[in-house]
Amino acid sequence: MLLLVGLNRNRDVDGMAQIICADYPDPVYMALAIEAQKSWRTGPIFKPFYHECGMLFAEDLNMGRLSYANYKKLGEESLSGELMTPEEARERFPIFQDANWADAEYNYYNPHSGWGEGEEAMRSVLHAALDVGVTFIEATVQKLLLDSDRSCLGVAILKNGQPQDILADRTLLCTGAYTAKILADTAPEWDELQVDRRMVAAAAVQCTATYPLDQEEKLLKAPVHFIGIWHTHGESIPPFIGRLKFNCEVSFVNMTHHEGLGKDISIPPAPQSQSTFSQDVPDGLKEEVANVVRNTYGSHVPGIKIEKYRMCWDAVSPNQDFVIDYHPHCKNLVIAGAGSFHGWKFLPNIGKYIVQRVYGTLEESLAKKWAWDRPNDGAGACEMYIPTPDVKDLGPFKGWPRPGEALPVVD
Ligand SMILES: Cc1cc2nc3c(=O)[nH]c(=O)nc-3n(C[C@H](O)[C@H](O)[C@H](O)COP(=O)(O)OP(=O)(O)OC[C@H]3O[C@@H](n4cnc5c(N)ncnc54)[C@H](O)[C@@H]3O)c2cc1C
Repeated sequence: MLLLVGLNRNRDVDGMAQIICADYPDPVYMALAIEAQKSWRTGPIFKPFYHECGMLFAEDLNMGRLSYANYKKLGEESLSGELMTPEEARERFPIFQDANWADAEYNYYNPHSGWGEGEEAMRSVLHAALDVGVTFIEATVQKLLLDSDRSCLGVAILKNGQPQDILADRTLLCTGAYTAKILADTAPEWDELQVDRRMVAAAAVQCTATYPLDQEEKLLKAPVHFIGIWHTHGESIPPFIGRLKFNCEVSFVNMTHHEGLGKDISIPPAPQSQSTFSQDVPDGLKEEVANVVRNTYGSHVPGIKIEKYRMCWDAVSPNQDFVIDYHPHCKNLVIAGAGSFHGWKFLPNIGKYIVQRVYGTLEESLAKKWAWDRPNDGAGACEMYIPTPDVKDLGPFKGWPRPGEALPVVD
């Protein structure tokens, strides 16, 4: 078996930490995440990179309540978190005594959640694959190779600047935010091949931050923290090797003219500095994530300094369901993507479902849910991440609107 991956431009050693929790409004993803968490806790490939520090929500999105109900529905009450008032939460987690939870309806705490070390976990999976005989090539896919009947023959890659064709009986494209571009570059005139509205490349801003050493003891007691209230949309991950990581949960697109298609599609910006940790991020985004930092620890943890920023790209489907399916018009091509800002935690088990789809054994309800063509209805798995603005239109950050208010006008 050949495993072909590119340089993961979303990945960087700095602060590459991802939340791992099963608290979902959709019981299907909850069950899937419970399964993944078993591997995170016990699997030798994953366990060294998993930190189960708990996760505290402060929100008005009903996520905690829905999750609480879903654990019951699935008969998994022992894995559920608990609902509490903000006063109770501050008493229990004094690290958040100055967090801005204004207008939070309630807090929800799940001790069974945590976070994973992205870079190291990926490396561990890769080594495990190499150990069982997978061949790994690091290269950039230029386009798919198509036969005269338009079935997929493999990929054309560029490796160390040299073009090369790689032929395969079956080609599995797991290229995240770049999927639409690869299909467009392959055959722009072929409408049925294109991604269209099935998923869109979108990003959210993240940052890493340092803190004074004398604050570490306090910070090490922090769980993962999520604020989903009108004034703040973001998450923080507790310290690791002297760094904190924060995400802002408001996403955006980068509409770019594709010559071949003759229209705009969202494509991550070409400069590497715009998808790795750097300072190359619009000021408005820097201010958005600074709002998350400020409203998480407030003055209770003085001296937190933002270090670097990153626009982190993913492919998002309209209802945040994944896409795992054969392409209906391009024989031998399988697409697995639309992680929709919540896909990483499934690193231990999503491959099993992809293989089931490849061999036609995937349970029918999942095959329908993750189909290339589908109605895209049902509850969103990660609704707050649906992208709206274009990164090029972002002005100074003027705060988020209250529910029912329009977005502040951009200068
Ligand atoms: C800001 C942000 C925060 C997130 N936080 C979380 C979280 O806390 N928990 C969670 O579970 N999920 C989270 N996610 C979602 C998660 O990271 C994604 O859903 C998941 O990584 C998607 O996996 P993927 O394999 O589809 O795409 P990716 O992880 O993006 O992988 C695609 C791969 O394809 C490669 N590639 C692309 N184009 C080419 C090419 N032409 N040639 C060769 N290779 C190519 C890329 O380099 C990359 O390695 C977050 C996402 C974002 C953006």
